[in-house]
This record gives sequence, C-alpha cells and structure tokens, in this order.
Amino acid sequence: MAALVAEVRFHGSPPTHLTLPALEALGLPHASTTRHCPGVAHPSEPVSPIGRETAAVLAPLGLDLARVAYVRQVHGATVRRVDAGGYGGEGDGLLTTTPRVPLVVFTADCLTVVLYDPPGTRLALAHVGWRGTVKGATRAAVDALAREGARPADLHAAIFPSIGPCCYEVDRPVVEPLRAAFPDRWDSWVKSARPGKWSLDLWAVNEFQLTSAGVRADRIANPRLCTGCRTDLFFSYRREGSRGRLVTVAALP
Ligand SMILES: [Zn+2]
Repeated sequence: MAALVAEVRFHGSPPTHLTLPALEALGLPHASTTRHCPGVAHPSEPVSPIGRETAAVLAPLGLDLARVAYVRQVHGATVRRVDAGGYGGEGDGLLTTTPRVPLVVFTADCLTVVLYDPPGTRLALAHVGWRGTVKGATRAAVDALAREGARPADLHAAIFPSIGPCCYEVDRPVVEPLRAAFPDRWDSWVKSARPGKWSLDLWAVNEFQLTSAGVRADRIANPRLCTGCRTDLFFSYRREGSRGRLVTVAALP
C-alpha cells in the first residue's frame, strides 16, 4: 500500500511557509519555509541558524525559535537526542521527548522526514539525501524513537518538499551504493533515463524504509512537492546551486 498524496496549506502571499493538515490534525506545531521566508542562514556554524525574521514568521504557529535545537548535517544516519535548544553536534537526525523544543532540518532538495508519536511524547526529524538514504537515515530515526519506547505502528510520518523522481537524475556512483544497500529492491526505485543515467525516486526508498521499520503506510503524509519543479516556491540545489536553504521545524506541544 502506497502513502497517500498529502494536502498542503500555504501561509502568506507570496507564501513564506507551509504546513501539513495531516500533522495539524494531530496538534503538532510545525512548518516548512519557502524561498520567500526571510532570515534562514546556512546550518554549518555552531550559532543559531534561524534569524529573528524567520522566528517572527513562525512564532504564531507555536514555535519558539529562541529554543531551537540543530545539528551540523553531514549526510550520515546519526540521530542526536536533545533535551534543550542549541547546537547538538554533528548528525542528521534529531530526537526529543521535551515539550516546546523546536527541532530543525535544513534542505535544498534533500528530504526532511518528520516522525511524531502522539499525543506529544516523542518527536524526531531527519535530513535525508541520497547518501543518508543509502545509510538508512530514515530507518535510523524510527529505530531511535523505538528505543525511547515508541511503537512504530503508532508513529505518524511526513516527508516535506524535496527533489522528486521527475527531477533527480543520478549516475552510477549513486546507483551502485543503492543497489548494494537494497539488493532486492533497488531496481524498483530507478528508471533508466539515458545511457549511464537513471532517475531515482528517493521518496519511494524512504517510504519503504518507514514501512519496513513498522510505520503504517496510511500514516505517511507525502505531498510529493518537488523542489526541482517548483523553484518559484522552493530552493533547489540541483536546479540553481547553493542559493539558499529551506527550513523544516517541529516541536512537541
Ligand atoms: Zn520535479
């Protein structure tokens, strides 16, 4: 059973951020910015990467960005547990059981996967590109929540705007590690595009990681919004290089 195409709600004109009604219905404060949201810096420095202007835009959603927790993203599968805001070291996953500590992931084409264990007990965010996908970063986030006592079947997952199979052409150095990591499955996620090039469906690989870790398919919200197709709304590293980052943030209520 495949994940449903999730509804999206845009805020502002032009839209500065979006929310997913599927997560709103669970009472999870969250948002993902567009390229029209001011004040997002690059996350590599150990100083808060969220500017005051961004914090002001997101505050009405119940997100106190003065307490934001973030990591230096390194395309791995390490999940950092955080109980307070601030710099959490290197990693590509963040997990908290503490209310009102916003977790944040920065992307421009990579996936942000949000995992929520309602009502309000456990939350994880993962930053997942092709390297993280091959290393099982999404699965690692589910497993980290399970170690904290969550039942995967109780989790709700969401995949935020990221590069779709329509725009993600890769070559052998990407396909070979994928094949090695998922020998029985990899060929269902790639399509031959032209000699030496394949289009890769990272959404499908990560939805598979979620369901194989025990998350129910009908609890995976993926709006299937492609950053490469929609550079009017999002930043796309593939399409335009390093122009800016989207930030996805969520906090336990
Ligand atoms: Zn596309």
